[in-house]
Amino acid sequence: MLTAAKQTMDYQTHEHDVLVIGAGGAGLRAAIEASAADVSVGLVCKSLLGKAHTVMAEGGMAASLGNVDDRDAWSVHFADTMRGGQYMNNARMAELHAKEAPDRVRELEAWGAVFDRTPDGRILQRNFGGHKYPRLAHVGDRTGLEMIRTLQDHGIHQGIDVHMECTVLTLLKDGERVIGAFAYDRERGRFQVFHARAVVLATGGIGKAFRITSNSWEYTGDGHALAYDAGADLIDMEFIQFHPTGMVWPPSVRGILVTEGVRGEGGVLKNKDDHRFMFDDIPDLYKNQTADNEDEGWRYTQGDKEARRPPELLTRDHVARCIVREVREGRGSEHGGVYLDIAWIKERLSNGAEHIKKKLPSMYHQFKQLASIDITAEAMEVGPTTHYVMGGVRVDADTQMSSVPGLFAAGECAAGLHGANRLGGNSLSDLLVFGRRAGEYAATFAKEHDAGAVNTDQVEGVARRALEPFAREGEGPYKVQQELQGTMQDLVGIVRQDDEMRRALDEIAKLRERADRVAVIGNREYNAGWHTALDLPHLMTVSEAVTRAAIERQESRGAHFREDHLGKDEAWAKINLVVRKVGDGSMQVVREPVPALPAELAKIIEENR
Ligand code: FAD
Repeated sequence: MLTAAKQTMDYQTHEHDVLVIGAGGAGLRAAIEASAADVSVGLVCKSLLGKAHTVMAEGGMAASLGNVDDRDAWSVHFADTMRGGQYMNNARMAELHAKEAPDRVRELEAWGAVFDRTPDGRILQRNFGGHKYPRLAHVGDRTGLEMIRTLQDHGIHQGIDVHMECTVLTLLKDGERVIGAFAYDRERGRFQVFHARAVVLATGGIGKAFRITSNSWEYTGDGHALAYDAGADLIDMEFIQFHPTGMVWPPSVRGILVTEGVRGEGGVLKNKDDHRFMFDDIPDLYKNQTADNEDEGWRYTQGDKEARRPPELLTRDHVARCIVREVREGRGSEHGGVYLDIAWIKERLSNGAEHIKKKLPSMYHQFKQLASIDITAEAMEVGPTTHYVMGGVRVDADTQMSSVPGLFAAGECAAGLHGANRLGGNSLSDLLVFGRRAGEYAATFAKEHDAGAVNTDQVEGVARRALEPFAREGEGPYKVQQELQGTMQDLVGIVRQDDEMRRALDEIAKLRERADRVAVIGNREYNAGWHTALDLPHLMTVSEAVTRAAIERQESRGAHFREDHLGKDEAWAKINLVVRKVGDGSMQVVREPVPALPAELAKIIEENR
């Protein structure tokens, strides 16, 4: 077993059997599993332990426990996930996810997670868009916090070495194999080499490539870019989920999520003319079920029950596009969004204000504190926000190993499970199911392989390049970052067109050159400017990957909407886009068939249509 840490002149070297990069739900679950397999584990994270993005998750984690509706089963969850992903999903991943999620939730409970309960004491489950039955295990609107707390409490007793505030800059290779990572610590700016037999990436998403996002500062696409640079395939990069409701005012909080729960509790969307515009564009699929009475929404049947659902709860991509249309056509709110009104329910309920505060405590405080808005009395201003990336590292469904030996990926930085769009709640269960698998198989790989050799030339080259911004004079990194975010937001956002995206590609190429020349001042200790300069190459890589894949897919499907190619095209229905680095260092997008659907899974889908 490798465990020692030794100091060299310029960097410290840490030896672990398995290195996990990222300490959100996926990373923590992977580290726990690897450690249980009796190998030494190092866990590296960019922020403090417990601060990962997972902590922000609100609605819950999807698992077919069947506690609220006993008709639920793994097969129904599987079929819902495939439908949500427009059948672009890796079916084996969707199968494993649906089958294993209930055990992962029960395991979390056994480790101390205190879920909301049904009257008879079982884990309570709530409804969410695209899930046929109530399926989301939750803890009020703070599920991610409970998940992280539980995994962390469990994990710290497993002997995992945690390296906090430590940012990985590159993966180290011995031949074709990944054998560690090179990083710097934020506190002192010292360099660190992590030498490992297997590496798990669990770095989350890429939201900070866009100007408006619900994502935290850490989401600069590092894991995606690290894997790509190491030779791994990325897939589905064109599929970015834009959540319809983020805050729009004041500017400092633009993008912060306004949970779907507000609409679930009766919140209605209106334009500046007080018109409930979501009734203007109900997809054909639902038209024959539409009721004229606006208060009722449209009727639909769920199993043998009839239910009512307001148009505000149509799919996230559809609602987001309707909001964009209202704003573009001059019917938006004062600050470029639309109005979300939950206060109206006071007309129906005598205790309306108290009801809102009880059902949506975090939202009440969020708007009160950040925007001085009392949501029990006034409408909120909301607009779409970049929320989640379905694309990421292509992995083997069972083991989570990427196309590069020794490199595994799990959580939001991996791809396959969600296809063209993710159902709410499927991310948290994804982290547990595939975090566990990545940890297990990384540990197995570590046991079966030697440590490999660190190439000191590679290490010294990366260290030298990382320090170059201190030696330059000229433009700082923030303007480049801001312009990139603006380019992605305006040209590769919710509504896409070929000419705009080609303009974005040109811009990204110019911005990449500027990024290579940015200068920073000060020293290496907690230097935010330097950290931003080091994030830039990763942001450039993921932005280029998204743009190239989005240009290539000439249809509209799931979260990818092309104004110049409206509607789905059958010719694209079975094509995955793979992004990889080729010999001359350029980025290539390759079309590959979606893996064939085994007959027994096809039958399940057919039975659940
Ligand atoms: P994260 O939790 O983000 O962890 C990433 C880790 O990687 C961090 O520790 C970070 O420090 C580290 N890291 C990143 N780069 C580096 C680097 N270069 N070096 C070292 N470490 C690095 N999903 C649901 O299923 N249900 C919900 O209710 C839900 N609600 C949400 C609400 C909000 C506001 C948001 C933004 C998302 C929500 N999601 C929800 C999505 C879900 O929370 C995320 O997809 C999920 O938490 C991602 O987990 P992860 O483990 O992959 O990454």
